[in-house]
Amino acid sequence: MAKNNPFLTAQKQIDLASKYLEIDHDLVEILKEPQRVVEVALPIRMDNGKIKIFRGFRSQHNNYRGPYKGGIRFHPDVNIDEIKALSVWMTFKCAAVGIPFGGAKGGIIVDPHKLSKAEKEKLTRAYVDKIFEFIGPYKDIPAPDVYTDGQIMSWILDEYNHISREHNPAVVTGKPVAVEGSLGRDTATSMGGVIVLDKLLKRIGIERDKASVAIQGFGNAGANVADILYHQGFKIVAVADSKGAIVSRNQIDPHALVEHKKKTGSVIGFESTRTVSTDEFLKLDVTVIIPAALENVFTAENADSVKAKVILELANGPSTIEADEIFHKKKILVIPDILANAGGVTVSYFEWAQNLSRDYWTLEKVESRLQEVMSSSFETIYEKSLQHSITMRVAAFVVAMERILSSINLRGNGN
Ligand code: GLU
Repeated sequence: MAKNNPFLTAQKQIDLASKYLEIDHDLVEILKEPQRVVEVALPIRMDNGKIKIFRGFRSQHNNYRGPYKGGIRFHPDVNIDEIKALSVWMTFKCAAVGIPFGGAKGGIIVDPHKLSKAEKEKLTRAYVDKIFEFIGPYKDIPAPDVYTDGQIMSWILDEYNHISREHNPAVVTGKPVAVEGSLGRDTATSMGGVIVLDKLLKRIGIERDKASVAIQGFGNAGANVADILYHQGFKIVAVADSKGAIVSRNQIDPHALVEHKKKTGSVIGFESTRTVSTDEFLKLDVTVIIPAALENVFTAENADSVKAKVILELANGPSTIEADEIFHKKKILVIPDILANAGGVTVSYFEWAQNLSRDYWTLEKVESRLQEVMSSSFETIYEKSLQHSITMRVAAFVVAMERILSSINLRGNGN
C-alpha cells in the first residue's frame, strides 16, 4: 500500500480521537469504512474521434446526520483510497461545525487541463448518468473540489434535471449565482479559514499586522485566502504553486500575482521575489503557513524543519499522522482541515437550504451566518483541546464523533 495512504491516516485519526469520547465506543468501528463506494467507467468520444475510458468514483461515507455531501475532484492522481479518506473527512467536517449533512466525495482520474471544454462537459455528464440513482437533494449532494468549478456544477445540475425531468437545483452546490448558486460560495472556504485563524491569533496574542504568511497552492482557495488576508492587513511573504515557490522581503500583492499567473502559468518570476525550492519554502520563518492544495504536504521527513507558529489547513489532509505528532511536540498549532476549510461546505449548506426554500439570501446574511458557524465551532473545538491538552485536530474529531455517535445511538445501529 502506498506510503502516507490518506485512508489509513483518516482511520488512525478516528482511533486517536476515540480515546477521549465520553460516550459509547463500540460504534466507532462503523465510522472507519464508507457505507458505499461506487466505481464507474466513463467512455468518452474525444475531439479526435477516438474513444477514451476514464475511471470515476463516489464514496458515500456516512449519512446518519443528513444526506451525503462532498465535492468532486478531477485530477490525474485521484485514487480510491484518497476518495474514501476525503469522504470520511467530509462526515467529520460537517459534524464538527454542526451542519446537517453526512460525508461523501467523488473523483475522476483525469487531467482536466488536457481536455477541451466539450470533452470536459461530456465527461461530467457521463459521470452524472452513471451515479444518477445515488445522488439527489436528499441523498447525496456533490460540489466543487480540486480542479472542478461552477461550470462543471452547472452541467451536473443540467444533466440531473434532464434525467429526472424536474427542476432540482438542490442536487448540487457551488453553482454560479445565475443557476441558483449562493452569493459568497466562491470565497467561502477562504473566508471561513480567515475567521478561525483570526480567532486563534487573538487567543495566542499575535496581532494581524505582525503576522507573516506563506501560502502553498494558488488555485481557488489559495488565491482567495491571499486576497482576504491582504485586505485584512496580514503580510503575505511567500507563495508556492505546483511549478515552484517564490519569496519576497516585502509584501506580495495577490491581485498582481493572479495576473502574473494568468500570463505565465505560474507564480515563478513575479516582480521583486526570488524563487526557492519547495523544501526551503516549507522551512520559512513565518507566523502562519497555509497549505491550500493537496494531501501529504507535511510528512515525517519535513515536519521537524517547519518554523511557522500556526498551520491553517485549507487543503484536505495536508499533514500525515507523523507530522501531526511532530507539530504537537514543537507546539506548532494546527487548525485542522475539518475546521479550517469547513466554510466551503457551510455555505454549500446555505445554498442547498436556499434552493429548497426558494428564498434567496443577501451576501450580508450569508457572511454573518458563516461568521456565526465558524466562530462558535472554533470556540467549541479550541476549548475541547485545552480541556484535554490535545491538538485541535483530535478535539475536532472528538466533537464531531460525539455528534455522529449520538445520532447513531438514538436511531439504532441501522445499516
Ligand atoms: N470540496 C469542499 C470540501 O472539501 C466543499 C464540499 C461541499 O461544499 O460539499 O469541503
